[in-house]
Amino acid sequence: MKLVVRVKLLPTPVQAAALEATLHTCNQAATWAASVAFEKEARRPLELRKHTYAEIRFRWGLGAQAAQHAIKKTCDAYTALKANLRNGRYGRPGSRRHTRASGKPVVFRPQAAQPYDDRMLSWQHEQQTVSIWTTAGRLKNVAFTGQAEQLEVLAAHRRGESDLVFQGGKWFLIATCEIAEAAPNTHPAGFLGVDLGVVNIAVTSDGERHCGRRINRKREQDRKLRSELQKKNTKSARRRAKRHAGKEARRAKDINHKISKRIVAEAERTGRGIALETLTGIRERARLRKPQRTTLHSWPFAQLGAFIAYKAKRAGVPVVYVDPAYTSQECSKCHHTARGNRPSQAVFSCRVCGFVDHADHNASHNIRQRGWMAWVWGARSTAPELTLIT
Ligand SMILES: [Zn+2]
Repeated sequence: MKLVVRVKLLPTPVQAAALEATLHTCNQAATWAASVAFEKEARRPLELRKHTYAEIRFRWGLGAQAAQHAIKKTCDAYTALKANLRNGRYGRPGSRRHTRASGKPVVFRPQAAQPYDDRMLSWQHEQQTVSIWTTAGRLKNVAFTGQAEQLEVLAAHRRGESDLVFQGGKWFLIATCEIAEAAPNTHPAGFLGVDLGVVNIAVTSDGERHCGRRINRKREQDRKLRSELQKKNTKSARRRAKRHAGKEARRAKDINHKISKRIVAEAERTGRGIALETLTGIRERARLRKPQRTTLHSWPFAQLGAFIAYKAKRAGVPVVYVDPAYTSQECSKCHHTARGNRPSQAVFSCRVCGFVDHADHNASHNIRQRGWMAWVWGARSTAPELTLIT
């Protein structure tokens, strides 16, 4: 399976200037190539190469590899544009947006991402440095950093091209990794149902609860601080608010990594698959009081779901997504479904058979059962093709 890992570069000011000049030059060259491609209707790499390669190397001083990448990037941009025009992202043919998008050459931002292959970029994993081609020559010992888990994946599985990216004033390399998957378990012994929620971030049908109380309290504090800083609206306050948001995102990511790891390990150990609700369900399901609503919308559910999916795929654990309708109101014993079964946020109490359970635990059992049904009815494991772990 393919994974994308993002690491942050820590260039010295001199190195950063060289990287910036390189992005600018490569994108100028690509923008020029795009205008030639538009004029001559040459949008395949081989054809466009004939018209542009020599000049890109001569006029912009790009090396052979960089020139090829600029040409390929241009062709890729036209391919993407064509696909977007076809699937209606710019409205109907003849509309103003459509005409505007198709009637002029592609233009690259000065800081658009630049692809690098192994001849232009080499990695020294132990030293955590890269050696990277720039228009000012080869830069050696450019330091990079990332989370331990990412660095491990990177060192063991990186294959092919990486993109140099400048985002929010920082430099990143986005590397593609090719990871061997375990043989998929085609005969799961059952399913582990996982209910994702707010009060409890994840509850499994085995009864394991990943409680969110402490995290939510901390996030509430963070939010208060942020809104105070926003009211102040000075430059330093804005900077502090931004730094805080970044910190919170990193903490959430770390927690999501830990939870997903445990859940997948448990399913793998017991030969089961994992059943999750489709993500839209989590947002739409609960009628929540207002303070909870903000918590719900800002908790990175999608990220937790994606982490579970890719770790499961790697381990050969099948994942199925089930219809989330009424999982919180249905009795997992007798299947009586009513809003009255849910006297409070935390408690499930069946009006018909009298079954009482923790509400999220009951829901996770419904998800487990629906997962098993979906599997029996011919569902396939539906882990996404490409996941970004950052
Ligand atoms: Zn019941």
